[in-house]
Amino acid sequence: MTVVTRLRYTAGGYHDTDGAAQQACVLLILVGYRMSGPEDKSASLLQREFFPSPRLLLGPGPSLVHPRVLHALSAPLIGHLDPEFLQLLDETQAALRQIFGTTNSFTMALSGTGSAGMEGVMVNLLEPGDTAVVGVNGVFGSRLATIAERGGAKVIRVEAPWGRTIDVETIRSTVRRSGPVKLVAIVHAETSTGACQSLSEIGRLCHETDTLFVVDAVTSLGGIPVQVDAWHIDACYSATQKCLSCPPGLAPVTLSPRALAAMRRRRVPCPSWYLDFSLLADYWDESTRRYHHTAPISMIYALREALRLVLEEGLENRFARHRRHGRALVAGMATLGLTPLPLENERLPMLHCLTLPTGIDDQQVRAELLRSHGIEIGGGLGPLQGSVWRIGLMGESSTASNVLSLLQALELIWLRRGWRCPAPGAALAAAASVLDEGPTIHSERSTP
Ligand code: PLP
Repeated sequence: MTVVTRLRYTAGGYHDTDGAAQQACVLLILVGYRMSGPEDKSASLLQREFFPSPRLLLGPGPSLVHPRVLHALSAPLIGHLDPEFLQLLDETQAALRQIFGTTNSFTMALSGTGSAGMEGVMVNLLEPGDTAVVGVNGVFGSRLATIAERGGAKVIRVEAPWGRTIDVETIRSTVRRSGPVKLVAIVHAETSTGACQSLSEIGRLCHETDTLFVVDAVTSLGGIPVQVDAWHIDACYSATQKCLSCPPGLAPVTLSPRALAAMRRRRVPCPSWYLDFSLLADYWDESTRRYHHTAPISMIYALREALRLVLEEGLENRFARHRRHGRALVAGMATLGLTPLPLENERLPMLHCLTLPTGIDDQQVRAELLRSHGIEIGGGLGPLQGSVWRIGLMGESSTASNVLSLLQALELIWLRRGWRCPAPGAALAAAASVLDEGPTIHSERSTP
């Protein structure tokens, strides 16, 4: 095990070395795995350091993490009120503003996963008796509605079939006839179905009717445009483990001046102390910097590095990369008989919800992908369980070679089981024809 550990540290910096050294490191690590794997696994758990098997993360999250982010995680700790750390917070906020497309001063990363962002926004903006209009077309819209109801709000659900998007006109008529509506909440990228909701018109409607506009950008941020200011979004939250390619544990959030004013007008205090945004602002605001809870220091290091990678690549390049690889995946999957659930013009490029042909055993194939190929993909949620796969090409996971590796593994499984596919290599060829339109496979890394 010592050998593996030492090699892993060596590999921590492999992106700075030349290609040959990189490959040698990776090879040695793999050899190390093989040599130490079986014996270690029979040892008592706590007698060995945990080091996971290599995995290609192509599920709905977490996505792969760049070595620079892993390296940042291992930096020595400093205090959460240390001036150097406070400088890091400022830089993280500035980068988040750029990626959210906002000048909102209230822009921060909450301690907790995307659900902390969801719950935080809803409990800070809603009070008992308020009316909330919530778009529900999958698991995450439904969660938004549940959280609002638990907080005592009157919730009006505007529903759409799973896989479809919410109709803007129905939101408009619902807001108009439902008396004063405090907020409209909607999921931008519905991870349970792969549907992409367009937001700008709903934002305009909310702006005109003095209604707050809440957007879940957990899966979309960093993968497709999120324009908080231009789309009149008042509260937007995300998560680190999707298109930002950072481990799970933080929820970036931004609030408009209108949302802050609504918080100031609250009749009763926010029922959550830990997620009370007005208290958290006292820590993140550079004029106060008051202790609230101990910041997850290493996660902030990691997020800052992940955001640096996003900005180095450039948002437009990153969006184009997600689109290109999404199209390649869909083209390859079509040859195996898998079709996207959402309509073409409502499809996400980073999360593909694909309907399985009859006769394919969902769980068996996913288990074989993981066991024999080290590839993770996701199954369906709720009513879609067993009938769809959810494949994520998010952030660092969105590369041409990952698309091809997955298709190759699936082709093998298909051929071995005698399932229908046009010819060996057809899925790869279909994907390659899309990839050929873009940069070469080796030059398309997201980052230098
Ligand atoms: N919202 C959406 C759209 C999601 O996809 C998820 C998680 O996948 C969440 C909210 C909840 O995020 P987390 O699991 O990080 O708490």
